[in-house]
Amino acid sequence: MGVGPHDIARLLEGCGLRVTPQRHAVVEHLERARTHPSAEEILAAINRRFPRASKATVYNTLNALVAAGAVRTLYVEDGVARYDLNVGRHHHFVCDECGRIEDLPFDAFGRLPVARSLGGRRVDRFDLTLHGRCADCR
Ligand SMILES: [Zn+2]
Ligand SMILES: [Zn+2]
Repeated sequence: MGVGPHDIARLLEGCGLRVTPQRHAVVEHLERARTHPSAEEILAAINRRFPRASKATVYNTLNALVAAGAVRTLYVEDGVARYDLNVGRHHHFVCDECGRIEDLPFDAFGRLPVARSLGGRRVDRFDLTLHGRCADCR
């Protein structure tokens, strides 16, 4: 995808947010980390550069980005909200060793791996979460 500084500013403005260094850093971290960080992880990363970045700033920025459809939330089994700058259709791979969450291309499973009709339900879309060991942990 590749989001530069100008794109980050435009993305924030497009979500109705004034561009500040801290908000910029939130999006920049999402773009760079690609590990689907939680709000706490984002705050910890940003605090290395902005020691006074507040929890409220990070949460408010994330909420505005999600509300505007620029970021999506993702929940794995621990129930913690994680944030994903990739809002296109894709699947996820969870490494059970190091805990990182990676994107998998949607067309890796282009077709529904089960029947389109399940017990009277009609399935319109699906996304998968696969578990295993990432390339670094294998
Ligand atoms: Zn791993
Ligand atoms: Zn993702």
